[in-house]
Amino acid sequence: MSENRRSVGLMGGTFDPIHTGHLVLAEDVRDMFGLDEVLFIPAANPPHKGGLAVVTAEQRYLMAELATASNPAFHVSRMELDRQGPSYSWLTVTELQERYGASTDFYFITGSDAINLLDEWHRAHDLLARCHFIVSVREGVPLDEARLARSFGSLAKEHIHRLATPALEISSTDIRERLARGASIRYIVPDAVADYIYKEGLYQ
Ligand code: ATP
Ligand code: MG
Repeated sequence: MSENRRSVGLMGGTFDPIHTGHLVLAEDVRDMFGLDEVLFIPAANPPHKGGLAVVTAEQRYLMAELATASNPAFHVSRMELDRQGPSYSWLTVTELQERYGASTDFYFITGSDAINLLDEWHRAHDLLARCHFIVSVREGVPLDEARLARSFGSLAKEHIHRLATPALEISSTDIRERLARGASIRYIVPDAVADYIYKEGLYQ
C-alpha cells in the first residue's frame, strides 16, 4: 500500500441496536489492517431482512453515534438513511468511491452470516471487485468457502479475507429478547446506548 493511499472500513448493518460485538470487530479490523477510518452505515430498509426494525431508523442512527463517539477513527454515515429506495451496498460503495476518489481503498467488514449470502446481494460480483471484505467468523456460522468460490471464482480468494478475532457471541436479536423479558443488557452495549434504551423504553 503506497503511503498516500487511504483505507476506509465500512461497517454496514441494521444496528438494531448496535452492540459491543460490532465495536470490537470494527476496532480489530481498524487495528490489524491499519485503517484510517471506519464508517458505520445504518441501513434504512435492508433488502435481506424481513420486516421492519423495531425502533425507528433515527433511533438506530443515534445509538450508533452514541456508541462510536469516543473513538476518533469511528464515524457514522447517514447515507443509506437519507437515500430513497433499498440499502444496496453496491450503491453505497459506488457513492463513497465517487466521494473519496481513487486513492481510497474500501474494506467492507462483515460477519460470516452476512458474507455467506453475498451471491444474493445486488451486483455482488461488481461489489466484490470494487472493495475487499474482511470477515469475522461468528459462532455456529462457518465461512462457506465452497459457495463463495463457486459464485465468485478467484475473486473470492483475492478479495475476501478472514479475520481471527475473539468470538463475541453477541447479537442484536439476543439484546432485543433480553429487553423484552426484562433481562439486563449492561456491558453488552456501551453504557451510553444502554442508558438511551432504558430512558426511551426501547424494545420493551
Ligand atoms: P440481528 O440479530 O438483528 O441480525 P446482528 O447482531 O447480527 O443483529 P447486524 O446489524 O445484523 O447485527 O450486523 C451487522 C454486521 O455485523 C453483520 O455483518 C454481522 O455479521 C456483523 N456482526 C454482528 N454481530 C457480530 C458479532 N458478535 N461478531 C462478529 N460480527 C458481528
Ligand atoms: Mg444480523
